[in-house]
Amino acid sequence: MGTPVHKFDVVIVGAGLAGCAAAKTAQEAGLKTVVLTKLHPLRSHSGAAQGGINAALSESDTASHEFDTVKGSDYLGDQDAIELMTREAPQTIRWLEHMGAVFSRNDDGTIAQRPFGGQSHPRACYAKDRTGLTCLQTIYEQAHRAGVQFLDEWYVGDLLYDKSSDQAYGVVAYSLKETEFAIFNAKAVMFATGGYARAFGINSNAHANTGDGLSILARHGLPLEDMEFVQFHPTGLAGSGILISEAARGEGGHLYNSENERFMEKYAPSKMELAPRDVVSRAIEKEILEGRGVGPNKDSVWLDLTHLPEEIIETRLPELRDLAITFLGRDMAKERILIRATAHYSMGGIPTDIDGRVRSGAERKVSGLYAAGECACVSIHGANRLGANSLLEAIFFGRRAGEAIVQDIGQLELREAIGTESDRLSGEVSALLRNNGPDTVHAIRTDLQQSMTRNAGVFRTRASLLEQKAYLATLRDRFSQMRVGDKSKLYNTDLQEALELGHMLDFSAFIVEGALAREESRGAHYREDFPERNDERFLQHTFGTMDPSGKIALEYTPVTLGRHTPQARTY
Ligand SMILES: Cc1cc2nc3c(=O)[nH]c(=O)nc-3n(C[C@H](O)[C@H](O)[C@H](O)COP(=O)(O)OP(=O)(O)OC[C@H]3O[C@@H](n4cnc5c(N)ncnc54)[C@H](O)[C@@H]3O)c2cc1C
Repeated sequence: MGTPVHKFDVVIVGAGLAGCAAAKTAQEAGLKTVVLTKLHPLRSHSGAAQGGINAALSESDTASHEFDTVKGSDYLGDQDAIELMTREAPQTIRWLEHMGAVFSRNDDGTIAQRPFGGQSHPRACYAKDRTGLTCLQTIYEQAHRAGVQFLDEWYVGDLLYDKSSDQAYGVVAYSLKETEFAIFNAKAVMFATGGYARAFGINSNAHANTGDGLSILARHGLPLEDMEFVQFHPTGLAGSGILISEAARGEGGHLYNSENERFMEKYAPSKMELAPRDVVSRAIEKEILEGRGVGPNKDSVWLDLTHLPEEIIETRLPELRDLAITFLGRDMAKERILIRATAHYSMGGIPTDIDGRVRSGAERKVSGLYAAGECACVSIHGANRLGANSLLEAIFFGRRAGEAIVQDIGQLELREAIGTESDRLSGEVSALLRNNGPDTVHAIRTDLQQSMTRNAGVFRTRASLLEQKAYLATLRDRFSQMRVGDKSKLYNTDLQEALELGHMLDFSAFIVEGALAREESRGAHYREDFPERNDERFLQHTFGTMDPSGKIALEYTPVTLGRHTPQARTY
């Protein structure tokens, strides 16, 4: 029996904020829409976002939201996209409110807003410290209500793409429950598969953030943009990397080293702890490297909230308090907690235009293919994302991708799948189940994560990146023989993790190659051997493509500038 083919107008991969927002929009316009997700939608990483979602609710703040974002991006963000998103942000908050999202309030009933790093005004709207979950629950419910079909626990492993006509026409997936393959054939395909920080040892991301969507596209020769830009968040819990949201510093938290010095005075005297994430992360790692770390291994610094009234912690940061008690055994209302920089967010991704249409080159677009959210690179965040801008991005550009699909659908013909399109994925699965080498997923993944943190982390050099490039080749060799312990078909999580590891190895090569070629420091990408930003050579986006042998070629495309001309970025 051949692989079953299911036909839809629109197939969306991923049920986080971007996927749900697009699905609701497409379905409401009468398009038959299915969302495939490897997790239950509410387990998507969007639900873990704590701190807030930015919007300049007072009109006088709009221009500075735009400027803060451009400056935060170290001038690599595309200014047309930034201008559009920041202008429309208040409307996005109203859209959420009208659907029933309940934001925290001031005493006078207006929506409360808290300060976030790199922002000139408090503009992060929040629902206590459960902002992402509040937004996700609301949009998911409403997408359901509109009639979107959600297929949970389906793993998408390939794209239906015809290179000669540059057209996408579906995806190949298998059910995690029974390892049954199916083809989802559609006029429009959208990827909303989230971020890729799981490639690093210390990270704040859900286990699912393995960058599948990126590698699936890259294996078809489609480009990935600015992959070298990975954000390290300053405050992960020591040991686990679990996130302590920027809200903790927004509400007034201070950082101290082993000499009880509020060390941010040396690095960002005017913004202090509320400097952007790249600046604070480097400061923390520098303090540790220079021997002023604290904790049993001297590899953390203190985050102190004990000077805040307990009531503030209880009402505004209850989840954070719980996390620190559970994972560190320390109550932040009474004692300092141990933190360290943690890989957190992926600025790079699938290149799209401002309507979510995927670009297959500097000028070309793939017919029928869309992307939004953290897996996409519009590019709003350029070289460094400002906190509370990505929930906004996922929702705003998710909706916009949905609108673009509605607009385009009349011109998109359903190219019929023939059934053999699943051969590539089923072949990959069979090979993984057949191999019987000495390595396990766990061993290779740990080596990948630790080496990426060491060689391609907060600080990078040519030597560390060359070492990582060579090491990735050895990991790939080991992967090609790797043994998947569980050979069964029922909920084979070993197999899923093996496929995810293959994806992680692929996109990690893009990170390293992009970082090696970018001989400058910009935003989150810091080269110790090239500590200055170099606008003359590198005020450009990186476009990487992978050939079938795994070799990556890079090109550069111009940044869309606007009214903000690049200046030195000081805080
Ligand atoms: C701990 C944490 C806190 C954060 N806090 C904030 C904050 O306060 N403010 C802010 O603005 N941003 C925050 N962020 C960032 C923000 O949450 C994310 O960038 C955003 O939610 C991403 O949404 P998304 O829809 O793109 O992806 P996600 O929510 O990650 O969803 C991805 C979806 O893709 C699906 N998927 C992936 N691969 C496959 C596959 N192969 N097959 C099928 N399905 C697949 C998953 O099942 C999931 O449904 C935070 C991030 C983290 C990690």
